[in-house]
Amino acid sequence: MAAIARVGVIGAGQMGNGIAQVFASKGVHVVMIDINDEALKKGMGTIQKSLSKLVEKGKLEAPMMGAALNLITPTTDYGVLKDRQLIIEAATENLDLKRKIFEQIVANAADEAILATNTSSISITTLAAGTKNPAKFIGMHFMNPVPLMQLVEVIRGLDTDEETYNTIMELAQTLGKTPVACNDFPGFVSNRILLPMINEAVYALMEGVADAQSIDQIIKLGMNHPMGPLSLADLIGLDTCLAIMEVLHRDLGDSKYRPCPLLRKYVDAGHLGRKSGRGFYNYK
Ligand code: NAD
Repeated sequence: MAAIARVGVIGAGQMGNGIAQVFASKGVHVVMIDINDEALKKGMGTIQKSLSKLVEKGKLEAPMMGAALNLITPTTDYGVLKDRQLIIEAATENLDLKRKIFEQIVANAADEAILATNTSSISITTLAAGTKNPAKFIGMHFMNPVPLMQLVEVIRGLDTDEETYNTIMELAQTLGKTPVACNDFPGFVSNRILLPMINEAVYALMEGVADAQSIDQIIKLGMNHPMGPLSLADLIGLDTCLAIMEVLHRDLGDSKYRPCPLLRKYVDAGHLGRKSGRGFYNYK
C-alpha cells in the first residue's frame, strides 16, 4: 500500500487532537472532525499549546510548528473523508455512538481506505462488522498524552487482513512510536490491567482506606508509578474510565469488574477529571 499521506481523525478531544498533532508533525495532512466548532477550536488550541511546549523544550524547531498547524484542517463535514487513506476514530467511548460514526465514515470514505479505532475497550470485531470491509479495519490504540507516550497497542479484529496489520505496525514506527500487537478481547491488554487497578483505588477511597492524596502517594512511591491511580483517572477522564469498566463488566461477565459506585457518582455529577476542571482533585 502507498505511504499514508492523508489521514482523517474523528474527534478533536484529548486523544483526537493528540493523534492529529503527531501525524501533522510528521508531514501528514490531517482532517480533524468533531460535532461543532467549539470542540474543534478547543482541540486546535490544545495542539497549539502542546507544539509551543515542544518548541520551548527544544524538541521541535519553531518553523515546524507553523508547518504542522497548517497541515491540520478542522471541520464538522464528514464529506472531507473521501480522499483519506486512513481514518482513525477517536470520539467518546460509547458503542452506539461509534457505530453511528462508522456508518457516516463508510458513507463518505473510499472503499480502499483503512478504518481504525482508538477505542480503549470496545470490541474491534463488533465495530468492524458494521463496516463494508472488516478486513481493512483495525484497533490503533494510542496512549495519553499522545505526543509524549511511546506505545501504540495494535489490535486485529477477527477479519483484519495481514496487509492492514503490517501497514499500521509500520506506520506507528514511522510516527516514532512502538507498536505492540494483541488480540481482540475487552480492554485489550492495557485497560484489562490498568482499569481494574484504578477502579480498586476508587473503592479504597470510597471505603475510607485513605484519602485521595495518600492513595496516590502510596502507589507512586511504593510501586514506582509515575502517577497515582486517582490522578491518572482524572487525566484519562472519569467518563472514559467508567465506560471502560462497563465494557469489561458486561463483556467478560465477571463481577470483579463491577464499576465502583463512587466512580459512577462523580460521572453523574459531571466531575470528569481534568477536562471538566474537577475529578478526584480540583483543577480550577
Ligand atoms: P474526549 O471526551 O476528550 O473527546 C471526545 C471527543 O469526541 C469530543 O470532542 C466530542 O465532541 C467528540 N465527538 C462526540 N461525538 C462525535 C461525533 N459524532 N463525531 C465527531 N466527534 C464526536 O475523549 P478522549 O479522551 O479523547 O477519548 C476518545 C477516545 O479515545 C475514546 O474511545 C477513549 O476510550 C479513547 N482513549 C482515551 C484515552 C484517555 O486517556 N483519555 C486513552 C486511549 C484511548
